[in-house]
Amino acid sequence: MGDKQRQREPFRVRLIIGLRTYGKEVLAAAIVVALVVGVAFGVNKFFYGFDSPLSTASTGSAPAADRESKGGRAEKKFVQSKDWKLILVNADHPLEGAFDGELTELRYGERVDSRIYPDLQRMFDQMREEGLSPRVMQGYRTGEEQKKRLDNKIKEYMGYGKSREEARELALQWEQEPGTTEHEIGICVDVSSETGDNETANAVWKWMDANCAQFGFIKRYPTGKSAITGVKGEPWHYRYVGEEAAQEIMEQGITLEEYLGAL
Ligand SMILES: [Zn+2]
Repeated sequence: MGDKQRQREPFRVRLIIGLRTYGKEVLAAAIVVALVVGVAFGVNKFFYGFDSPLSTASTGSAPAADRESKGGRAEKKFVQSKDWKLILVNADHPLEGAFDGELTELRYGERVDSRIYPDLQRMFDQMREEGLSPRVMQGYRTGEEQKKRLDNKIKEYMGYGKSREEARELALQWEQEPGTTEHEIGICVDVSSETGDNETANAVWKWMDANCAQFGFIKRYPTGKSAITGVKGEPWHYRYVGEEAAQEIMEQGITLEEYLGAL
C-alpha cells in the first residue's frame, strides 16, 4: 500500500486498525461487562426464577380483579360483616328485618341496644367527670317512628308552599326512609347537652370528636362527607362500631362506608 492509498482509507478500515491497536483492552472490558451481566442475571434467576418481581410489574400483568376495578367495570357485591357492630345501614343498604335484640332504657327514657350500653355509660361518666353535661336525645326508634318523622318533615316543607315531590326531596336531607337508618337497630345516639344550648352542646361534641373512639364510637355523618354517607353533616349523631374500628375510622378521618369498602 502506498502513501496515497493509506490517506484515502475508508472509516471502516480505520476502525479495524483501531481495534487492532486497542483490541486487548476492548476485549477485556467486554468480558468484564459480560461476566457482571451474566452473574447478575444468574443470581436473579436463582432467587426469583424467571419472573422477578420487577419484570412482573413492568409487563403489567396484574391480577384480573385488579384490572377490572381500574377500568371501573367491576361490580363488587358488598357483603355485610357478621360482626353486629359493623352492620352498614344506609339508603343503599336497608335493614333486612325488624330489630329483635335487647334494649336498655336510659335516664330520660331513650333506649339503646344493650350491647352498646356499657361503653356509652363509661363515656358519659368520663364526660361528667370533666364537667360536661351530655344527654342522649335519640337512641333506638322503630321503622314506624322513622316513617312518622319523615312524613312530618314533608308536611313541614309543604307548609312552606313546596309541592309534595319537592318537599319529600328536601325532607330526605334530614330524615331517612324507614329501614335505612341505624337508629332502627339502636346502635347509635343523637347527643346534646342537658340544657341543649349551643355552647354546652358544642362542648360535648368537641369532647366526643376527640375521645369517642376510645369508647368504640364514631362521628357517623361528618360535614363534607354527605356524598359518601348520603346524609347531611350531623354533629350530634354518634354510632357504635367497637374500639378497634372506631380508632381507625376516627384517626383516618374516614366514614364507615369507606372503612367497610362499601362504595
Ligand atoms: Zn341520629
